[in-house]
Amino acid sequence: MNNSPQIKQAAAVIRQARKVIALTGAGVSTESGIPDFRGRNGLWSRYDPMEYGTLGAFRADPGKVWTMLAELTELVDAEPNLGHYAMAVMEKDGFLQGIITQNIDGLHQTAGSRNVVEYHGSLATFTCPTCGKQWSLAQIRRLILPPHCPECGQILKPDIVFFDEQIPSQVFYLTEELLASADCLIVAGTSGQVMPAALIPGRVARQGGTIIEINLELALGHMADLSLANSFAETMVALQAEVSSG
Ligand SMILES: [Zn+2]
Repeated sequence: MNNSPQIKQAAAVIRQARKVIALTGAGVSTESGIPDFRGRNGLWSRYDPMEYGTLGAFRADPGKVWTMLAELTELVDAEPNLGHYAMAVMEKDGFLQGIITQNIDGLHQTAGSRNVVEYHGSLATFTCPTCGKQWSLAQIRRLILPPHCPECGQILKPDIVFFDEQIPSQVFYLTEELLASADCLIVAGTSGQVMPAALIPGRVARQGGTIIEINLELALGHMADLSLANSFAETMVALQAEVSSG
């Protein structure tokens, strides 16, 4: 893999690009042991998204939705893999301007990535719907579930975007900022079926950018200019090494 012509080709594109960004999805976290929520036996096969994954459901019965959220907070208790770290190094070295992730596990930040847009929010923080005070996952873990706001007693809501919720405007703004003038996009661990993955590669391609796909099972088809069908961690480690050796 290390010396494969595709890695060299992708590294050359990255080195020559003015602005490289990445779009990541569940596939980068499965290598950290976090199962794909949408996969077979995934979270959403066991909890009906309409009953457990909407803001409406949360408002109607937060205690019930917290049976799913309790499992979710356990699931994301994982360590970054070598691919996350390789992306962080690429950013530090100036070869990656930022990451748009669909993941809510915070693993890119744990690995050291700084410019990360969490398109679907994050499980790192929880906000009280009544008093607006924000609490960290570490603080939540010390409470009995469902966690009640230590200030006012209301059941806390995770800062994730539920299925029926709008993407916060700040997230749109930050995504737009990253996409503007990007001339290379690394798509990793996402099938491109779910928003925003469904739109972002096309947007960068229309700007004349090069799309590099890293997926165990390639999914972008003709949309990808370079397709690396291998594990995220292995590919990113090889790619980062090749980029910095050039
Ligand atoms: Zn409160």
